[in-house]
Amino acid sequence: MSDLLKISGIETFYGHSQALFGVDLQVNEGEVVALMGRNGMGKTTTIASICGLEKYSAGSASFKGIDLGPLPSHKIARLGIGLVPEGRRCFPNLTVYENLIAAARPGDWTLDRVNALFPRLQERYDQYANTLSGGEQQMLAVGRALMTNPTLLILDEATEGLAPVIRQEIWQAVRDLKAAGQSILIVDKTLSELLPIADRCVILEKGTTVWTGSPDQLTRDLENRYLGV
Ligand code: ATP
Repeated sequence: MSDLLKISGIETFYGHSQALFGVDLQVNEGEVVALMGRNGMGKTTTIASICGLEKYSAGSASFKGIDLGPLPSHKIARLGIGLVPEGRRCFPNLTVYENLIAAARPGDWTLDRVNALFPRLQERYDQYANTLSGGEQQMLAVGRALMTNPTLLILDEATEGLAPVIRQEIWQAVRDLKAAGQSILIVDKTLSELLPIADRCVILEKGTTVWTGSPDQLTRDLENRYLGV
């Protein structure tokens, strides 16, 4: 398996305030990697640093062997990184259909395939995104990212705040994506759903990678130390 995304020792600041102090992370082709850690430990900042939404000031990040450091976020997206950001930001004043085709790029993911994954979206094609329920907006955010035909899909808290039945639909979609060989970097607090699909876990503590391993190596002690409340 070749490495798709490789991050070594990245450090990221918000103004004068340092959020990342050395994050190491790798996603190989076809892998699902869970990025874990308590609130405020740097998961979203790591994702923002990968996607060029925040610039890291030290360390290195490469995708398909290409250095991400100098690239603006739209160029990073075009390399094949599809982000479903925390807070599921869809274009509120575009319809479901318009949201889906806005960022579409050629590839295996087409409207038909997104509709098969989330049949509810097709039923709401002409609705404006801001009239959808939270769960539908999340499906739209995932569908929109897939329409860019990403080599790597990044999901940041995709099930947060959703009703249980909708969460199950999102998790089923993630399992289907994994089965189809999609490479995924995922942040989610529901360990009981996350761990069964993860090939590897990366734990952040205070902006630093403190542990990497497979889900079956994640002991109760590690969970208590790094993931407990
Ligand atoms: P959560 O699970 O709560 O989303 P997280 O692990 O994703 O947490 P980050 O959101 O990356 O953590 O936050 C890492 C650190 O950076 C925290 O100390 C946070 O307060 C700080 N931080 C995050 N966003 C900003 C910002 N826009 N400006 C300043 N500091 C920020």
